[in-house]
Amino acid sequence: MLENLKDTESRLREIDCPICKSHVFHIDPRTDKTADIYNGQCANCRYSFPIHSDVALFTLSQPDTLMLFKSIPCPSCEQRGVTLECRVQASVRDSYYLVTCNNCTHPFVERAWMDVYE
Ligand SMILES: [Zn+2]
Ligand SMILES: [Zn+2]
Repeated sequence: MLENLKDTESRLREIDCPICKSHVFHIDPRTDKTADIYNGQCANCRYSFPIHSDVALFTLSQPDTLMLFKSIPCPSCEQRGVTLECRVQASVRDSYYLVTCNNCTHPFVERAWMDVYE
């Protein structure tokens, strides 16, 4: 579950729409509560993509990501170690992690290089 959809929406501004390169997205608050998947949509071209908030399940199924999140440096305080909040599958090739710094709670977006589905 995403605790604050408006907050998540504003954080999506760091992401480019894969279609029109716009930076404004809306998140549909209606979601399948069991799947924990939200629908994000570009405010400009209406392109839509899934936002996964099943982070506990995701890190369990992909243990490598735990090491990854421990090694991501914060752009604000430069300490390493973040907490994953959700994953944004913007397109087949563009996937992002919305994370928060464990040290200073600075929120930022990390490109998910390991999360490319072939
Ligand atoms: Zn767009
Ligand atoms: Zn920090």
